[in-house]
Amino acid sequence: MAVSRVMVVGAGQMGSGIAQVAAQAGLAVWLRDISQDLVDKGLGGIRKFLDRGVERGKVSPEEREAILGRITGTVEPGPAAGCDIVVEAVVEDLKVKEAVFGELDRICPPGTIFASNTSSLPITQMAAATSRPDRFIGMHFMNPVPLMKLVEIIRGLATSDGTYETVRELAVRMGKEPVTVQDSPGFVSNRVLIPMINEAVYCLQEGLATAEDIDTVMRLGMNHPMGPLALADLIGLDTVLYIADVLYREFQDSKYRACPLLRKMVRAGYLGKKTGRGFYAYS
Ligand code: NAD
Repeated sequence: MAVSRVMVVGAGQMGSGIAQVAAQAGLAVWLRDISQDLVDKGLGGIRKFLDRGVERGKVSPEEREAILGRITGTVEPGPAAGCDIVVEAVVEDLKVKEAVFGELDRICPPGTIFASNTSSLPITQMAAATSRPDRFIGMHFMNPVPLMKLVEIIRGLATSDGTYETVRELAVRMGKEPVTVQDSPGFVSNRVLIPMINEAVYCLQEGLATAEDIDTVMRLGMNHPMGPLALADLIGLDTVLYIADVLYREFQDSKYRACPLLRKMVRAGYLGKKTGRGFYAYS
């Protein structure tokens, strides 16, 4: 099935990026969030990104307008009924995601594919909460979506070959390189990344070094483009904690326990770049 219309649910940092790359690939896109303010914030972020592209000569002003013209903001779930696929990118909370998919399942015809951008939650369980587990799949983009090449495609237990092929082709059309991963907590990316970030937070908590020095060790010593604490700030400390808790709960292995400092920072509302304060301060 060739996809031409897509709804992205959640206009945060991931949802707005997914909407942007879908529109860049020529798709008609609905971008939905729970309030008009949040929708406008998502659309504003896309415009800002494209404005920078125009300034750098990477995007023409006409292309920018054409891309923006293909994205329509909405707070209503209804337009999902006219889409070939819905990509969900709401908060990393199983109950919230299941409620979103439950509503979509009632609205959308049986052929509509549902994809979740979850970082760690079980695709098979979310799929089972709908009437279309064969048309349910994980489509895990990386942050920032317009710049990062990888998409992990996660097949649930019941995902059909047709759904998998459609979504793989869609990822390629969006300029991404898909890697297929089995449905397991954190998939591959966050199974490896989150314990590393968590250990960096333990190093900070135990006073081994400053945040800057911990990041410098990983940048200059391991050739990582960005240190783990700066990366955690970019991802969002709430999202990092959600994923760490999922790994701990699902594997029941103490090696995945979240660092108390990480939890404390989330409780304080220090969520990283998006709130202006995390391991670093942002203006
Ligand atoms: P975010 O907090 O920036 O955005 C989430 C958005 O979802 C918010 O705008 C919120 O208002 C909206 N939302 C919440 N409930 C909703 C509902 N019922 N209907 C519509 N919109 C709703 O979070 P994010 O970083 O964009 O993460 C979104 C998802 O992407 C999560 O599942 C996360 O694990 C995953 N993810 C995040 C990253 C990352 O680096 N941040 C990377 C890959 C995947």
